[in-house]
Amino acid sequence: MNTASLNFRLVTWYAGVLTVVFVLLGAITFFSLRQYLEANVLDNQARRARQIADTLIARASRGSESALGAELESLYSPETNDRFIRITRADGTVVFASGAPHGGGFDPAQVPALAGTGARKIALGDSSLLLAAVPAVASDGSRYRVEVGTSARPLEETLRRLLMMLAVGLPVTVAVAVAGGFVLVRRALDPVARIAFKAEEISQHNLSERLPVVHSGDELERLSVSLNHMISRLQESIDGSKQFVADASHELRTPLTVMRGELESLAQDRGLTRETRETLGSVLEEVERLAEIVESLFALSRLDAGEASTEWRRFDLAELAATTAEQMSLLATDKNVNVACDSTAGVMVEGDPARLKQVIVNLLDNAIKYTPAGGRVRLSVQREPGYAVLEVTDDGIGIPAEALPHVFKRFFRVDGSRSREQGGAGLGLAIVKSICSAHGADIEVISTVGRGSTFRLRQPLAVGVSARS
Ligand code: ADP
Repeated sequence: MNTASLNFRLVTWYAGVLTVVFVLLGAITFFSLRQYLEANVLDNQARRARQIADTLIARASRGSESALGAELESLYSPETNDRFIRITRADGTVVFASGAPHGGGFDPAQVPALAGTGARKIALGDSSLLLAAVPAVASDGSRYRVEVGTSARPLEETLRRLLMMLAVGLPVTVAVAVAGGFVLVRRALDPVARIAFKAEEISQHNLSERLPVVHSGDELERLSVSLNHMISRLQESIDGSKQFVADASHELRTPLTVMRGELESLAQDRGLTRETRETLGSVLEEVERLAEIVESLFALSRLDAGEASTEWRRFDLAELAATTAEQMSLLATDKNVNVACDSTAGVMVEGDPARLKQVIVNLLDNAIKYTPAGGRVRLSVQREPGYAVLEVTDDGIGIPAEALPHVFKRFFRVDGSRSREQGGAGLGLAIVKSICSAHGADIEVISTVGRGSTFRLRQPLAVGVSARS
């Protein structure tokens, strides 16, 4: 469980506050109910004591004290009613005291002889008595104290039951409330999870997509709308830079072609000195390199713009690979590298053959470029269930492990000086990657320094081509 999560913290706080509130509420209920019930019972005892004082005692006299007991027994039956009655003369002599109650709630012998009047709770060992005492005056002026009490046990039993209910009910209520809170918080955070999930999916390739807007009219709605505005601004800015590269490379193509033509015709002049001719040759080389870079940038910007290809058709990738390998064998022979093509015929795919040819050319060109004389390059096209697999393997210098994740990035070269000598600008594999993405194909590279590299392209077979056909 993630204790740092918002969900966990909210629910913990909620559970804590709820528990404190419920405990306080339970305690207040318990103590006020106890006070109310005790006061009520004491009030009843005081009323009964006053009744005895006003009726029986007021009519009696010192001489009729013995008859008082019989009268009290017949009128109030204290033992049967679990009641305590005691009449004490002003000199402290007990005139009447009820016996042990049938319910056994208290022991009357233990009730202390207290002075004064009023209502109070008296503890008697493990039980207690709610006792009220009132003064009484007999017809002959003799003074008495009338005490009436009852056991506190029934009341305590009621309170114990309430306590039990609170003890069981409180955790259950808190548990139900916490479970409800957990579900509510989860539901409240659900849109945030959806926004985060969508945000993870959005990259520079699908910047036209937007985050789901939560129509809650609160901060969450504002957040999703603001993030969408931010994505729109990013999209505008990225589109602007792409357009700039596209325009710049387009504008540079013509002057570079003119420069190359002019330099070539200048180099034809027989009257030039050797040094001038050499300088011209090196300038021409640089202009050609520049023209290649501009051409690559232009190609990339067109691919980025997702320009729909007019040449999209169904064709045999194996056949395309074989003819391309043959065309490039001249370059390989110049470098004394052996290029072999090994393909299963009839590997039908759908796409733009010119662009996929560019992929094969770039991969073969690299393989030849980075394989020393005497090395071998192998091109193969095979069929896997549902896919055409094209592989270019060489036994050349290989790519260091730390460079592998970057080789498809724009302008990335493993070793700047090494690539530059061989004319690379670090755009060849970026073009390969863009063309693959446009064709729904994956490309990966496996390489070991000093032992060679394998570039593996996996493209879905044309619809309607079974794995075995
Ligand atoms: P470049 O035009 O510089 O060759 P690429 O984009 O085609 O640029 O390749 C990027 C880098 O990957 C190159 O600089 C090169 O060092 C490395 N690389 C590409 N293919 C191979 C290969 N077959 N063998 C070794 N290194 C390679």
